[in-house]
Amino acid sequence: MAETIFTKILSGDIPCHKVYEDDLVFAFLDIGPLSKGHTLVIPKEPAETLDQLSDESAAAIGRVLPRLCRAVMKVSACTAYNVLENNLPLAHQAVFHVHFHIIPKPNENGGLGIKWPAGSLSSAEGTKLAAELSSAISADS
Ligand code: 5GP
Repeated sequence: MAETIFTKILSGDIPCHKVYEDDLVFAFLDIGPLSKGHTLVIPKEPAETLDQLSDESAAAIGRVLPRLCRAVMKVSACTAYNVLENNLPLAHQAVFHVHFHIIPKPNENGGLGIKWPAGSLSSAEGTKLAAELSSAISADS
């Protein structure tokens, strides 16, 4: 995997405002916050997108994410927040090293704005799609 700004942060070549670190996970403040307390949580493992991340690193992030969310809530004095993880440029990924954003949502206009163009799911479509997904998951285990 090519070096990214986040691998340089991990190696200490680029400074950051660190908020958490363990053997597998690192968290720091986003340099372009959408709201006060906007934090990035990354695996030390250099995977580009979430689907490429090992179970071990994914579990380590999952274990600590709620604790980091509680800290962000406390310090930003927000009860509402978004956790966002983008994969590839079409889905707004700019840095190709897996990262979870924790973004406080202080009010209607602050924090993350999202378009949510909800469609509909028929029962037949749902049955077919769920079966396809179950089978893909089984094949990947
Ligand atoms: P993405 O669009 O890839 O999900 O988000 C990348 C995030 O990384 C952006 O929110 C951006 O502000 C943040 N970012 C980019 N470069 C740096 C940097 O050098 N330091 C820090 N702390 N954050 C960065």
